[in-house]
Amino acid sequence: MIYLDYQATTPVAPDVAKAMEPWFEDKFANPHSPSRWGHEAQAAVEVARKQVEKALGLKGGTVAFTGSATEALNWALKGTAENARAKGITGRNRIVTVATEHAAVLDTCEWLAEQGFDLTVLPVQPDGRLDLDLLARELDGRVLLVAIMMVNNEIGVRQPLTAISEMVHKVGAIMLSDAVQAFGRVELCNGPDLVAISAHKIHGPKGIGALWMRKGKEPAPLIHGGGQEEGLRSGTLSPMLCVGFGAAAKIADERWQRDYDHVQKLWAAAVHALGDGWIINGSIEHRYPGNLNIRREGVDAARLIADLRDIAFSLGSACASGSGRPSHVLRALGLDYRESRSSIRLGFGRYTKQHELVDACTRIAAHAVAQEKLDA
Ligand code: PLP
Repeated sequence: MIYLDYQATTPVAPDVAKAMEPWFEDKFANPHSPSRWGHEAQAAVEVARKQVEKALGLKGGTVAFTGSATEALNWALKGTAENARAKGITGRNRIVTVATEHAAVLDTCEWLAEQGFDLTVLPVQPDGRLDLDLLARELDGRVLLVAIMMVNNEIGVRQPLTAISEMVHKVGAIMLSDAVQAFGRVELCNGPDLVAISAHKIHGPKGIGALWMRKGKEPAPLIHGGGQEEGLRSGTLSPMLCVGFGAAAKIADERWQRDYDHVQKLWAAAVHALGDGWIINGSIEHRYPGNLNIRREGVDAARLIADLRDIAFSLGSACASGSGRPSHVLRALGLDYRESRSSIRLGFGRYTKQHELVDACTRIAAHAVAQEKLDA
């Protein structure tokens, strides 16, 4: 199989699997127990936390582990809303986000709107970038929180989060950023107060994410119980998953630039191998090059995926592929139903070999041309 779905998930790095192994087998203690074994597990969790914090490179805050980035985003949004409600800040009732966000943000924002918050979902330009003048017009003293991702999971487009955070802070609002696709792949933007990440997108294990929180901006807890994670996120931590996340973060911190250079070369090779007739969805200039989202007039993308079963690629996000609905991200770029059904996402990264990618792209292009002939 040629794996070209790096935005859905990434293969676990061999050194990550090795680091996790003892914590799966012998070292089973509860990291919150007072025993010597418990202390050992807790120490391993704290090393992992430091590794994740170092790789993030953000100043003035700490990381709390969660079960996923979805949980981290739910927590950040609902917990910030709860803080505002508890303090009785009735004047700050607005949440601003963008139409191309992940469902973990959009659906949670919709839920908050049902609870009485005033939600604004901003459109994007045809290249997937946010118009900062439009954002500026929306920002005022009524805004509680702004949620904008760093790198889009479907089209790879990057938003200028450092500049956006400055604008958001000027009106005294809180900036949340989904950095799931950015962390470990590009240099993170400084500025957001809350940053959500996930281990399985950086060659770590599934089932663990984290929320980085600027001191003083911690959201109210979403999960109550034993008071772990400074009372902010209850539940027994898994030392195995934390150690895996820490090891993956350490490796990413050491080699993200090398990985970036690699995907940049792969991007050029893929575009060349696909040949003419394809249109790239989203900005070419402002993007993470490990994502290539393309469309071709008349292609049935679902059929393409079904015909090429030994190549793992997708229609958009893994969630969108399952639902059969056309991608909300492509629709936000202005693509019509037919155009989004003719789009595919190729995602590649650290372990992708150029010859495999070129082989896959050549076959995808040949099948697309064959479809055209068959349908003509
Ligand atoms: N945000 C983005 C941009 C993603 O790509 C994903 C994963 O698909 C998530 C959030 C959710 O991450 P997790 O799988 O850790 O819940």
